[in-house]
Formats: sequence, C-alpha cells, structure tokens
Amino acid sequence: EAPKPSNFLRAIIERDLAAGTYAQRHWAGSPGDAAHQGSGALDPARIRTRFPPEPNGYLHVGHAKSICLNFGLARDYGGVCHMRFDDTNPEKEEQEYVDSILDAVQWLGFGWEANGTSHLYYASNYFDFMYRAAEALIEAGHAYVDEQTPEEMRANRGDFGTPGTDSPYRNRSVEENLRRFREMRDGQHADGAMVLRARIDMASPNINLRDPAIYRIKHATHHNTGDRWCIYPMYTYAHPIEDALENITHSLCTLEFEDQRPFYDWVLERLADLGLLARPLPKQYEFGRLNLTYVITSKRKLKALVDEQVVNGWDDPRMPTIVGLRRRGYTPESLQLFAERIGVAKDYSWIDYATLEQSLRDDLDPKAPRGLAVLDPLKLVLENWDEALGAGHIEPCSAPVHPSQPERGRREFALAREAWIEREDFAIDPPKGYHRLYPPKADAAGGRVRLKYGYVIECTGYEQDAEGRVTQVRARLLPDTKSGTPGADSVKVKGVIGWVGAQPVEQGGGVAAEVRLYDRLFTEAQPDAGGRDFKASLNPDSLRVVQAMVEPSLATAAPDQRFQFERHGYFVTDRVDHAAGRPVFNRITGLKDSRGR
Ligand code: ATP
Ligand code: MG
Ligand code: MG
Repeated sequence: EAPKPSNFLRAIIERDLAAGTYAQRHWAGSPGDAAHQGSGALDPARIRTRFPPEPNGYLHVGHAKSICLNFGLARDYGGVCHMRFDDTNPEKEEQEYVDSILDAVQWLGFGWEANGTSHLYYASNYFDFMYRAAEALIEAGHAYVDEQTPEEMRANRGDFGTPGTDSPYRNRSVEENLRRFREMRDGQHADGAMVLRARIDMASPNINLRDPAIYRIKHATHHNTGDRWCIYPMYTYAHPIEDALENITHSLCTLEFEDQRPFYDWVLERLADLGLLARPLPKQYEFGRLNLTYVITSKRKLKALVDEQVVNGWDDPRMPTIVGLRRRGYTPESLQLFAERIGVAKDYSWIDYATLEQSLRDDLDPKAPRGLAVLDPLKLVLENWDEALGAGHIEPCSAPVHPSQPERGRREFALAREAWIEREDFAIDPPKGYHRLYPPKADAAGGRVRLKYGYVIECTGYEQDAEGRVTQVRARLLPDTKSGTPGADSVKVKGVIGWVGAQPVEQGGGVAAEVRLYDRLFTEAQPDAGGRDFKASLNPDSLRVVQAMVEPSLATAAPDQRFQFERHGYFVTDRVDHAAGRPVFNRITGLKDSRGR
C-alpha cells in the first residue's frame, strides 16, 4: 500500500500522476521557438517543476526551501526540474548574481541536464515569443495601449470594494493599438508614456484583474539581450508564458501570489485559445514562504546589511544567504534535511531558528571527527609531574576520531607538565555543585577532575596578576589513574575537562588558532515583522573572535572541514581565511540549544 503523501503538494502531484493529467505533453525544440509548442514526440507522464529566481541578489535560506522543494519533487516523482532565470527586469539584474545562483544550486546538490531533460533556461530568451503573444492578444481584442499617466491609472484602478473606471483608451481599435505597441517597441516613446494592458474587467473584485499592465517601456540595457529591447514584459504576464513554454506542470510559488493565480490562468487560456500554447496548461500552486526567527530573508534588506558594512559581504557567516550558510559551515545535507523537516503548508508561520541548527547537528553528529579545543586558555601546571613520571616525560594519549565508529581510528596527542585548560574550569570560590578545579581550603582538599583521555588531577593552588586575573592553575596528578589503564577507576571524580598540551606540536602539544564565535545577527525573533526597523535590533555580540588552542590533529585540516569540538559544538575551518600554519575556525552551532528556545 502506498504511503500517504506527506504534504498537500505531493497529494496534488500523486493525484495528477494517477489521472494521467500530463501524459499527453508534447515536447520539441527550445522553449520560445516557433516549432516548440504543440509539435514533437509524445512524452511520458512526467511532472515538471522549475526554480525561477530573478538574478537580482544572492540566494538565501528561503530560496533553499524552494530549491529543495522543486528539485526534490521532480527527483522523487521521476520528473524534471528546470533551472530558470526570471530575468525580465533589466535594471536590477547582473551576471554576478547569475553566477552565484548557479553555484548555490549546485552546491545544494541539485543540477540540470543531469538526465538530459532538465535544463538551464533564461526567460529573456522568450522575449520574441512574449512579444508575438502580446500582438496576438491585441489582435483578439484582449489587450490595449493605455496612455493615461501612471497617476491616472492608479486613481482609476479603484480600490477594495470600489470598482475601477475604464480608461478612455480602452476601446481604441486593434489597428490603433498595434500601431502604438509597435511604436513602443521601436523606441518612439519615453519610459512611462504608455503601457500595454490586458483588457479584462475594471470592476473585478480581484484588483489584479482590473486590466493589469503586461508591457512597459524601459530604455535599459539587459544583461542577456543588451539593447535589443526597450519594452519589457511584466512579471505577471511573463511568468505563466515561461512556465508554459517549458511545459511546467506544477508551478510552485509563495502565497503572496495567490491573488495573481486568476491572471496566470487568464494569460494561459487566452494564448491557448489563440493556438500559441498547447494544452494541458501549467497550474500554479502556492505554499507558505519560509520565515525563520532571528533572520531576515528580504534581498533588499540583506543588501542593506552588506552595503552598510554591518556584515563583511554576502558570504559573511552570519548572513542567511546560501554562501553565508556555507561559509558558516552548514552542509548541503543539513539544509536539505531542514527543508524536509519544515515541509510545506499553506500558512505564514515562523520556523524556529533552532530547527535549522538541529538539522546541522543531526547531519554532522555521525560525520564530524571529534577534537579537543580550549577556547579560553588558562595555563595548568602539574607540579609533581617530574617525580611521578620522570623529568621531561611526554605522555602519549589518544581518543577515537568518532566515539561510536571505532573503525575510523584514533587521534594522537600528548600530555606534558604544562597544559591549557578552559578558564571556566577553574573557580577561586566555587559555586555550590561545581565539580571542576578549585583551590584547597584549610579544611578541604582542592577540586579533582579527570583530564579527558589523561589523568585525574587535584588542584593545589593558583596565581594571579596585579588585576586579580588568574594566570595559572597548579595541580598534582594522581599516578596510576590514566584513562584506559587498569587503575583508571581507582579514583572517582565528578568532573571531566578538556585540555590541550602546552608543549610544542612536534611533541603532541596544541596549536594556536583563531576561532570566530558567531551568534545570531538580531536580538528580536522577528527583526523586520510589521515594518519594524531591523537595524534597531542588531546583536552587538554576533561575532566574538578568540585565540584558542586546538589539538594537533586539527592543525592540519584543509579549509571547509567540519569538526565537533568536544563540549563546545560544531566548527568548520573557514573557506576563505584558514590556511596551514594559520588555522581559522568558525563556530557553526553549539552542541545543544542552550537558550532553550
Ligand atoms: P526577495 O523577496 O527576497 O527578493 P524573491 O521572492 O523575489 O525574493 P526570487 O528570486 O523571485 O526571489 O525567488 C525565486 C523563488 O524562490 C521563487 O519561486 C520564490 O517563491 C522562492 N522564494 C523566495 N523567497 C522564499 C522564501 N522565503 N521561502 C520560500 N520560497 C522563497
Ligand atoms: Mg521575485
Ligand atoms: Mg520578493
């Protein structure tokens, strides 16, 4: 028995596949070619989706949801997903964005032409078809050139509950409309002088059907078509045509476009009636866009953060862009897992940022090699080292690369008379229940802990500088307590702490590393909700850089390698700044959701 579809889009697709809705789809040539539609071989029943970004910025985590959804559905149902640039607006689009978008989609694990049927398309390659279709609409009486000023058009559109008023140009002849439209195309009019409008219904309760504009004049150079055109189609007219030319079956978009669906269908039905598009036609379905707490996903606002240097570029590890998430250390698998977990629904809910972090942990926990790192190093001196083990003795230690996968081998490092421990693992006046290091009192011994993978030690004292800052902790080791030896359990301790040897790396000691501790960029859960000024809630502590000591196995890591630092969380060697001899790690996320969010 087939499992129940896990969301409403899957239910729709399974219904359509069962009914054979798209079994008759024809396919030949390239989209927009005269020979393309309504000819060619019969294609098997297949769903076709598309991911259609506008190349006007870098992709963000919301786009990742859309990418995983569109490519994922095609993959799961033996269909096709096209990568398409919705590049119909010349002014904001750039090649830099085209390149970064292609890179992001591939990095996420998806591609085109993988099976010979999925393609990389540009909507701007259909400008000829879109223009011909517009002339056909004019000839059929479905479109007219309006010369009202933008202000007049806005005023005459009416309002919610108030019908609009017909334009005085609404009933001009086909010949007059064609002549004007061609003048627009030929550059004889200034931007904004006139527009081509669909002729639908100025009294429609859906304001989007009150004769929406379908072509406007824009004397602007396009990144793909150069100066060939000075009129450009509106998104709402272009999008359904793009979908139909690519034989998209399920056109998935975010909920804001729900009110546009009647116009989407209007364009397709008219052009199919005119023989310009073949049936069955694509259908639009809406899902809720991703809203993630503590994150903004508006390209415009993200650009402001970059332009005003609040962050260090689009790939700053605090940015929710795909390049930012990647540099932060997120894996493609963790983002796919996240997309799967949040699913799709028809609502405007917010997803907790913790869901994204948990997806990363669940992906990395079985994969990431472990390592010891001391993020806030304090010197530990083992006073009885020489008597207990011999002067200058170096004690080899080891730990599993992964605790539940012994086949991955062991990491080697060593302990000597001096080591680095976390500053927070020592307290002069220990709070109640503190099971780490503290100095002895008149009537009580000092705190005892196990140095993980090493010996049990007992604190004997400490040193401070003139400001009272602790500069060194002294302790003695308890002989015969080394982890993994028969005597290891002879002394019971409640605390186990991490450490890194202070001797040179050639003797198994640690290596200095820059560690960038990232936190969320905003202190408000919904930084830009309800028109709020998102810059007012920037987190001043979103980046803290510390000088850490890391175990030797971490020092040789290549860039973009992920680790779990024991007790601290998941870290990645920075793709840009990490180099042999100058290790730089980014914190991806902690081991658990410490805020209890
Ligand atoms: P922005 O509003 O940030 O400019 P956009 O929606 O205009 O983004 P497009 O490049 O047009 O960006 O988006 C490409 C695809 O990604 C569209 O199908 C869109 O629905 C989808 N998308 C964009 N943002 C989100 C989001 N937050 N959640 C889910 N899908 C999204
Ligand atoms: Mg858009
Ligand atoms: Mg948008």
